[in-house]
Amino acid sequence: MPDDEPAENISGGDAGGGQATIFETGKAETRAEAVVDRLGELYWQKTYGGQDAFESLVRTILSQNTSDKASQPAHDSLMERYGSGDLVANLAEADQQRLAETISSAGLYNQKSERIVAIAQRIRETYGSEAAFDAFIREGDVDEVRESLLEYNGVGPKTADCVLLFSGGQDGVFPVDTHVHRIARRLGVAPPDADHETVREHLERDVPGEKCGFGHTAMIQFGREYCTARKPACLDDPEACPMADRCDQVGVDTVDGAVVDPAESAK
Ligand code: SF4
Repeated sequence: MPDDEPAENISGGDAGGGQATIFETGKAETRAEAVVDRLGELYWQKTYGGQDAFESLVRTILSQNTSDKASQPAHDSLMERYGSGDLVANLAEADQQRLAETISSAGLYNQKSERIVAIAQRIRETYGSEAAFDAFIREGDVDEVRESLLEYNGVGPKTADCVLLFSGGQDGVFPVDTHVHRIARRLGVAPPDADHETVREHLERDVPGEKCGFGHTAMIQFGREYCTARKPACLDDPEACPMADRCDQVGVDTVDGAVVDPAESAK
């Protein structure tokens, strides 16, 4: 980690992995790239990769329908009991009831333990080991990796894309969470009524591959600091947002102070 890392790390802290980097800015060919370049002027730039892919999947399943606060102890207990050696092999052979007890603090522990054991068994069957699975995530064709991950029960598009990015370090992957979905449509770099997949397609088409991962994490931080769901910074003060000159403000009415989902404003 470099000395100049800011206190708030857009990658989500040490678990984010990856390395500091500098992107070339100022020659954007699309509006979406210009937006990511502006985010690059605001935030610390970083490339990603390096997390263990299977552990990321396990973490995601544990966190479903619960808070990070509740799922973290479950993750810690699971790693303490099954984390030594090959996690895939250990969980493929785990007694499901015992695993359920281990992760009980995360809630829905029967369903979650079933899913974890089933995924571990399929990964072991297909790839043989945790290391081989990691290599597939890192080196496999992006579309093929995404399709394979989506076949697992409990893995949706956002999880698959985050594994591709944070574990595989794959270029050209722009995961779309609720912040990215909202901001891309407010800015006007994706159609107002686009669903998550359509926003992802627009961003991955318009943002150069090496800037996608940074664009994802930086847009989330921007969504928390400036372009929040209910009270975007421009609502009271048009000059309060550093992105104002690049934004169509779709769904944000600064005259009467109303904020609606961009899809509503298109009607
Ligand atoms: S100008 Fe307003 S709507 Fe546009 S990005 Fe900034 S805060 Fe969000």
